[in-house]
Amino acid sequence: MSVYRQSATDTVVGNEDRALFEEMVKRILQQEVAPEYERWEEAHQVPRRLWNTLGEAGLLGVDLPEALGGSNAGVDICLMVCEEMSRQGFGGLASGYNIHANIVMPYLLHLGSEAQQAHWLPRMASGEVVGAIAMTEPGAGSDLAAMRTSAERVDNGWKLNGAKVFITNGQLADLVIVCAKTDPAAGARGVSLFLVDASLPGFSRGKPIRKIGQHASDTAELFFDDLVVPESALLGEAGKGFVYLMQELPRERLGVGAQALGAIDGALQLTLAYVQERRAFGQRIADFQNTRFVLATVRAELEMGRAYFNQCLQRYGWGEMNSTDAAALKLMLSEMQCRAVDRCLQLFGGYGYSQEYPISRFYVDARIQTIYAGTSEIMQEVIARDMLGKANQAA
Ligand SMILES: Cc1cc2nc3c(=O)[nH]c(=O)nc-3n(C[C@H](O)[C@H](O)[C@H](O)COP(=O)(O)OP(=O)(O)OC[C@H]3O[C@@H](n4cnc5c(N)ncnc54)[C@H](O)[C@@H]3O)c2cc1C
Repeated sequence: MSVYRQSATDTVVGNEDRALFEEMVKRILQQEVAPEYERWEEAHQVPRRLWNTLGEAGLLGVDLPEALGGSNAGVDICLMVCEEMSRQGFGGLASGYNIHANIVMPYLLHLGSEAQQAHWLPRMASGEVVGAIAMTEPGAGSDLAAMRTSAERVDNGWKLNGAKVFITNGQLADLVIVCAKTDPAAGARGVSLFLVDASLPGFSRGKPIRKIGQHASDTAELFFDDLVVPESALLGEAGKGFVYLMQELPRERLGVGAQALGAIDGALQLTLAYVQERRAFGQRIADFQNTRFVLATVRAELEMGRAYFNQCLQRYGWGEMNSTDAAALKLMLSEMQCRAVDRCLQLFGGYGYSQEYPISRFYVDARIQTIYAGTSEIMQEVIARDMLGKANQAA
């Protein structure tokens, strides 16, 4: 049963429709993704047309108002899509989807002007426009305030210079939300967000970054070389970039949490099937007490994780999920995912280490979850700061 059914988020979709939607998502992924996914992993990128396919199937504008091309179906449904992608073993696709649908679209919906929304969101819902968000730089990851990308005022707009790294959807993106310093002397108060059209002169992409997992998710370096964007590209107010980043963290981290839940569930299903087939010492692997304890522990953790996820989702729906909740959720579920898939893989013996067994992909795809969208150490820092205040950073 979906973990979302009991949520109290503001959604116009009833339980029956929700179940139908879930079935539709499963079917679309089996039809459109499963047969090709191995090839996309080898190509280190999904094909551009996949985004149009997802858009035509109604999976991209799930919680967007109908007037903007969406289905107005609720955040929980959008997260369910992400979870299902992970459950079916498409971790790289789930990450790209999460960026597009759970980060870039909500930024536009919450911060964009009517004109910005009308310009971008219907095309994001149809898959005509792929979204990315570019915060990280070679010298600024966890320490985002150290970013050097700048945006300087020019006649009728802003001129951007700088470089970003590890940008999910970077190769295929048509729209990139770029974080840049508009007032370098103002520290955190000098950062602004820009809606950058990737077809503008001065925008370029590096080679795709080769990763140990989530191969189908395209990850790129981006460069801005005297890239001039119009005044209308500024998202929200100048200087409020950090405030907006903080504000939108809960949704981003719910997305990572949904990915984790789906992946744990998917890995558990694969493992349950395997241990009942494989035999050693005259009995099924499933009959060793160790196997039973491992599976029981993973299942129990999954249930606990779901309960906390649902609690956060409910708070999000009420507008009460704060950055500490988001950090606790991201920390717990991503660490749990890594632990769970590791334990599951162990029960496959040597076959778990073979790429022919899908559990191996669950393992490599999981590893990034404790790093992107804020590392586990930063999550711990955020939670500790909530209890103890800021640590003395002096040596
Ligand atoms: C596959 C992938 C996809 C990504 N997608 C995106 C994207 O779409 N957009 C985007 O902007 N970024 C993206 N990122 C970047 C990601 O968010 C960063 O890699 C991450 O925030 C960590 O930054 P860093 O790599 O610079 O590590 P660093 O910040 O250099 O951290 C190195 C280590 O030091 C630890 N550390 C740092 N500061 C502290 C501290 N104060 N206390 C304790 N420990 C600390 C970290 O936890 C980590 O263990 C992606 C990364 C990858 C690999």
